Amino acid sequence: MTVDQTTIDAAVAAVTAAADLTTSAQGRLLAGDTLTKTDDSPVTVADFGAQAVVSAVLTEALGALEMVGEEDANDLVDDSSGLLDGVAGLVSATLDREVSASALLDLVAVGAGSASADRYWTLDPIDGTKGFLRGDQYAIALALIEHGEVVLGVLGCPNYPLSDGTRGATFVAAAGETHLVAAGERRRVTVAPPASLSVARFCESVESGHSDQGQSAEIAARLGIDAEPYRIDSQCKYGAIALSDANIYLRLPTRADYVEKIWDHAAGKFVVECAGGRVTDVHGAELDFSQGARLSGNSGVIATSGRFHDEVVAAVGAVLG
Ligand code: AMP
Ligand code: MG
Repeated sequence: MTVDQTTIDAAVAAVTAAADLTTSAQGRLLAGDTLTKTDDSPVTVADFGAQAVVSAVLTEALGALEMVGEEDANDLVDDSSGLLDGVAGLVSATLDREVSASALLDLVAVGAGSASADRYWTLDPIDGTKGFLRGDQYAIALALIEHGEVVLGVLGCPNYPLSDGTRGATFVAAAGETHLVAAGERRRVTVAPPASLSVARFCESVESGHSDQGQSAEIAARLGIDAEPYRIDSQCKYGAIALSDANIYLRLPTRADYVEKIWDHAAGKFVVECAGGRVTDVHGAELDFSQGARLSGNSGVIATSGRFHDEVVAAVGAVLG
């Protein structure tokens, strides 16, 4: 399945605009500047704001659309902390036009679409909230799903540390290719698998509550890997695999009942696959995006640069039992 250039361009424009908003909000957060009457709201403001901006830019370019976004406009309706005005202000500044509170609610509500539609977008406006709050890594993750298959992934990683010392990367995956857009330049990226497993590098969540780090260490030892894991928040981990800054991303369930959400993986997994890598769950099964808003047919995630994927799945199986 292919996706046309107008759609790709709209998705990149939407993520880029949302990244402007989140970058500004994170800067204000770090400067101790509050955006609303309460202190704990900058991340919330940026979450809703980024979802509204993606909705606005996509809708303007492509017309009405089906989207499953992480944020729920109903959570903004009770506005005792003045959140709505803070979000509307940020969105107005980003879009360079006045967006009223009610127009803003409508934009956020675009994300209340159906994950059983034949064709729909899925969005995590700020993936890696904890990283965002720490002033560290997070991602804006937008993907298009058609008949249960991801066909487009755009992953904005505004703080991603690139090997040339600069920060900020957007990954665009479509039609079997992944491109990196950074500092205004665009280039194709393909994974460079390590020469052997022993020199492979792991990456995993910073948050030990999101992936079992003890089991990761056991798996690394079993595979003969000594290097410290690269811990980085959000779907930036998928970007790290595409760029070969890491070669193995493990997301190992910390509890049996946690079901991964589509917006936490759709864009990232496609970035890795279109760069030539592989992504499965911990049992080696493909991630199944035909089950609605959650990956209810899967458990955890393993993403690799491909060559040693089966060996990694086997080691994970041996440790998880
Ligand atoms: P990361 O930065 O990779 O740790 O991932 C952040 C994402 O982890 C958030 O978007 C959450 O949806 C997700 N998350 C929250 N709780 C859990 C959990 N118990 N296991 C796995 N993922 C989780
Ligand atoms: Mg998320």
